[in-house]
Amino acid sequence: MAAQNAQILFPVNVPGAFDYRIPHGMSVHVGDFVFAPIGKQMKLGVVFDIVEDDGTRKLKDVAQVKAAQPLSLEMLNFINWTAKYNCVSPGLVLRMVVRSYKALDPSPLVTQFSPSGQLPPKMSAARQAILDKGAPFPARASEIAERAGVSSGVVRGFEAAGGLRAQTLPVDAPFDIPDAEFGGMELTHAQRQASDELMAQVAKREFNVSLLDGVTGSGKTEVYFEAVAEAIKQGGQALILVPEIALTQAGMSRFEARFGVAPAPWHSQLGDAQRRRVWREAAQGRAQLVVGARSALYLPFPKLRLIVVDEEHDTSYKQEEGVIYNARDMAVVRGKIAKHSVVLASATPSLESLVNARTGRYAHVILPERPGAITLPEIDLIDLKDHPPEKGDFISAPLIEATQTVLARGEQAMLYLNRRGYAPLIICRSCGERLKSPDTDSWLVEHRRTGRAVCHQTGFSMRMPTVCPECKAEESLTPVGPGVERVAEEAARHFPDARIEIFSSDTAGNPAEIAARMARMEQGEIDILVGTQMVVKGHNFPNLTFVGVVDGDLALAGGDPRAGERTYQTLVQVAGRAGRADKPGHALIQTHQPDHEALSALAAGDRERFISAELGLREALLLPPFGKLAAVIISGEDLKRTESLAKKFVSLAPRADGVEILGPSEPPIGRLRGRYRRRLLIQAEPTVNLPAYMQSWRKRLKLPSKYKLQIDIDPQSFM
Ligand SMILES: [Zn+2]
Repeated sequence: MAAQNAQILFPVNVPGAFDYRIPHGMSVHVGDFVFAPIGKQMKLGVVFDIVEDDGTRKLKDVAQVKAAQPLSLEMLNFINWTAKYNCVSPGLVLRMVVRSYKALDPSPLVTQFSPSGQLPPKMSAARQAILDKGAPFPARASEIAERAGVSSGVVRGFEAAGGLRAQTLPVDAPFDIPDAEFGGMELTHAQRQASDELMAQVAKREFNVSLLDGVTGSGKTEVYFEAVAEAIKQGGQALILVPEIALTQAGMSRFEARFGVAPAPWHSQLGDAQRRRVWREAAQGRAQLVVGARSALYLPFPKLRLIVVDEEHDTSYKQEEGVIYNARDMAVVRGKIAKHSVVLASATPSLESLVNARTGRYAHVILPERPGAITLPEIDLIDLKDHPPEKGDFISAPLIEATQTVLARGEQAMLYLNRRGYAPLIICRSCGERLKSPDTDSWLVEHRRTGRAVCHQTGFSMRMPTVCPECKAEESLTPVGPGVERVAEEAARHFPDARIEIFSSDTAGNPAEIAARMARMEQGEIDILVGTQMVVKGHNFPNLTFVGVVDGDLALAGGDPRAGERTYQTLVQVAGRAGRADKPGHALIQTHQPDHEALSALAAGDRERFISAELGLREALLLPPFGKLAAVIISGEDLKRTESLAKKFVSLAPRADGVEILGPSEPPIGRLRGRYRRRLLIQAEPTVNLPAYMQSWRKRLKLPSKYKLQIDIDPQSFM
């Protein structure tokens, strides 16, 4: 029999897999984790393929097969597909999949204790405390001791006396099995119809995509829960992707209320031990209900039956660093490869998904009603040309008046401004200097609560200077423009008796603090909440009946072709915070551009008008979803060299019909963390295979070390 070679992919940034000889007698399969030598080191990789040896090369041997659950063929396909589509090496995608080698090993065992059901003759207060406060059992001696307020010695002594039973158990307990029948909500007729449609899709056990399209508060979550229940009933796994910001205790407890158990969580705040536990349980197919941020999509589920992408339009699904990918789009790819259902849910679906639904590629499941509330809030625009705020202020008279009316009724108001800090710009009145980040083209933002000047691009911060760094003038540095802190300060002046709190990522704190603030808002202990994007997602405040948008134009600035769409989506979501219970809501939006299509359609409550205007524009300009876009960023520490590399790259572009290359040009952030950046935009007709085109182009440039070239397929950010 001819010798066989294993093509091994390592989790590193190299173009592809390496070939190794399979020694005689070693059993190696596709998907196995194996050790093989690279240079003098032994590295762990994954067998991507097994091929006949043609005898032309002298190859090193596979050293050892690791005893671990192999990756499935579907997972390998998914890794390959992600790499090809996003123009990165498959090794980098493998690195997203295998986050920790320890997770490949079974959980370590440890002695754990639980009550034996028998009381020893000698009971003490400390022993009684173990029974009263030591739960949940079984647990380690140290955990029980901490909860019961006793020493570990007391726990062991209680076991020796027969009051506790000791067992050797895995450190990482498996997740409880969700109960599909546990807390089913009573659904309205429309919700029932929608959930029946989704359940039927899951029951087909084949690839299909549904767009669950329902206004804010229409009960989308309850509806897709039924599809999740169907997947669980089949004995399969269900993955629910949510924006990272929604992974709060409150968000998770909804799953617990429906399925009787806490889901397995996956997000960036997870500690190493928790991460290993979730990975291992997901890989073994034992964690049936996983709720996570975008990277959860790369967990190696063997029995996936459903992926839900909640708030599918959300920009946080796009990863902008490392492997640049869109988890919403890759979820559809994974569903196609593994042949299961995908549900995209949103109150404001992306135009891409809407077009897919309208052309029949996706099933379009529409939830028209809004139970518990009569209508969507009434939205009006305030033209700032007609109603300019007082000098130095940012809140106009109509907005003040409306807020006063609401407070007088004993209801709550929210002022929305998607700008953290006190002021977005700090200018010297003597010399005109603007405080700038030292290594990045970005203005420093004043944060008055912490007394610091902060770069929002890189996180750089310094103590707020007392003299101008340029001309040394004292007390000359002046804040320009509003941030949430400044709006809260102004609101305190207009409404001296109101209880005002700020909610942004700076003030949010840990999940417990977020939950506490949300609870205060829910219980009416806050009159005016001044918030950024943070408040938009998923919080229900029954007594909040008014939302004032301080700057409705903010998202329209910049060269982003989706600016109108984003503004529309954000403002619908913000306005949707108002009047969710039995009280009708009202929203006022301050703007300099009341005639902008996004804003005027919003005020008219006419989603269809906005969508058709936007789609008409995109079609005429061949922008997504009617054409394709890719971006290239070339960066390096030397400006001239970066510029010339960008020009050289353009000159190497393969000739192709239907492809247009724009640039190189200087992006809005021309320097980031000390590296100069130049940008290309590639626009292609729908028939062009843009990833393949970009990959063949990329191969033509030999990049000097320390210079970087990043390809971004279907860019969402234009910085
Ligand atoms: Zn100055």
